[in-house]
Amino acid sequence: MTTERTFSIIKPDATRRNLTGAVTKMLEEAGLRVVASKRIHMTREQAEGFYGVHKERPFFADLVGFMISGPVVVQVLEGEDAVAANRKVMGATNPANAEPGTIRKELAESIEANSVHGSDSAENAAIEIAFFFQPEEIVG
Ligand code: ATP
Ligand code: MG
Repeated sequence: MTTERTFSIIKPDATRRNLTGAVTKMLEEAGLRVVASKRIHMTREQAEGFYGVHKERPFFADLVGFMISGPVVVQVLEGEDAVAANRKVMGATNPANAEPGTIRKELAESIEANSVHGSDSAENAAIEIAFFFQPEEIVG
């Protein structure tokens, strides 16, 4: 077990329904500490760059449109095995398949409007954190 950092986004469907606190509470209860947080409205260029790995997928245009449809909260989370711990509390991509007690099962609306993003590896976490945060904005 090692302390590591991961990157999280509270997506527009959640900010729209005033669930920033509810999501953050579930992250904290999963043992994750919010060491950086800011509310932003992503530009189309930011959303396309962030989800660039999915640019050939049929849902890419819709996904980018959704991610810029309202404000999001970008966060750096710290904890033991933070990447895996965050993926576990998020639940499956499609809320219909997510375990009870996960953020997506309890709060998400659909496979697209699924309330949260979380890095899928420590390597991608470092890239994603650097995409949105300067080192001095992260206070552990
Ligand atoms: P995220 O990367 O947002 O944490 P994830 O890793 O669980 O989610 P990915 O496969 O990376 O899932 O897909 C990225 C995002 O694209 C999903 O969270 C979801 O919002 C959207 N998405 C994925 N699959 C579909 C689909 N079949 N239809 C519509 N949107 C989708
Ligand atoms: Mg993903």
